[in-house]
Amino acid sequence: MIKLSVNKLFRYLSVFLFLNSATLPVKSSSSLAAWALKTNGVLELRTKSNTNLKAYFQKANKIYGDRFWVDFPGELKTPRSIKGNGPIKEIRLGKPNKGKTRLVIEFKEETYLEPLTWQIVGLDQNRWRIKLFNPKYSFKKIGEGLVEKRKENLKTNQNSIYKKKRDYYNLKLSEVKRNKFSVVIDPGHGGPDPGAIGIGGIRETDVVVDVSKIIKKLLSEKGVKVRLTRKNEVDLDLPSRVSFANNMNADIFVSIHANASRGKRRDINGLETFYYRGWRGKLLAKRIQKQILRVSPGSPDRGVKQGRFYVIKNTRMPAVLVEIGFLTGRLDARRLEKTTHRKRLAYAIAKGILEYLNKVG
Ligand SMILES: [Zn+2]
Repeated sequence: MIKLSVNKLFRYLSVFLFLNSATLPVKSSSSLAAWALKTNGVLELRTKSNTNLKAYFQKANKIYGDRFWVDFPGELKTPRSIKGNGPIKEIRLGKPNKGKTRLVIEFKEETYLEPLTWQIVGLDQNRWRIKLFNPKYSFKKIGEGLVEKRKENLKTNQNSIYKKKRDYYNLKLSEVKRNKFSVVIDPGHGGPDPGAIGIGGIRETDVVVDVSKIIKKLLSEKGVKVRLTRKNEVDLDLPSRVSFANNMNADIFVSIHANASRGKRRDINGLETFYYRGWRGKLLAKRIQKQILRVSPGSPDRGVKQGRFYVIKNTRMPAVLVEIGFLTGRLDARRLEKTTHRKRLAYAIAKGILEYLNKVG
């Protein structure tokens, strides 16, 4: 294993493993609901929905062996430690400080670990997995509670009703001056170019047209004039999209895309928004990125970035290109298949746009 200084490794990993999702109001009880370190070396976690996790790794020192830990919001009631087996020395649950829960996995000295390859994957709103080691000998599962999804019961039904209300509140669209703004929404690709092809053959062109049409409907209801560069499967080159927006003298241009990772890696998920120039473009990108992340808990924030894409470089108004998730990613693809998620994304993008229009006018 490459020797890295503890500090460097620590810093790198704390960034690497940091997970961002919508934040809930501070709650007193621990948001860690169940955990299991399985026989295949995979740690699975179940948390409350929309939990922010932070994970760290630290090399062994004089007192402790290599340690991996995850911090959860909410305070643990009873700190405890559990004896390990195989490569695991001990697992401890504690409260490092008030209002926090920490799950520490301490490894035995001789264990070979590759923390730089570790990645926490969100399976859904409240389940997570990370592969920590490959057991050389048989390893007995250690865990507490049920990490698998439970059958829906009355209680979870009530929760989901509550959740819907909360989502709606979070996403309530703001009002803007009617008949003042015009927006061009550009669903990427089309016709002979289906864009990215993801898990199960899901196609970028279909997803982005669907989302764009819903955005149009939502914005139109607020008195914003919206034009789509395409409504169906037509072959539309990039210069036509740009001149369409420029000729219309639109206030903003928003191109909608979905990603694919090289090698179709299922562990790569996340959302990102690009702008090319100007504080307006950047502000629009930020507003949209913030909102789409809220409806995609567990999917990584790949950030607001400058990008040189043709359509945002050559349009004359503030312009952004939104990547609403990876069609090749396990988490994102499963969501992007669903109409409900497409609606949420459209809502989120519309909200970002309206906030921007309200602010900049
Ligand atoms: Zn695309």
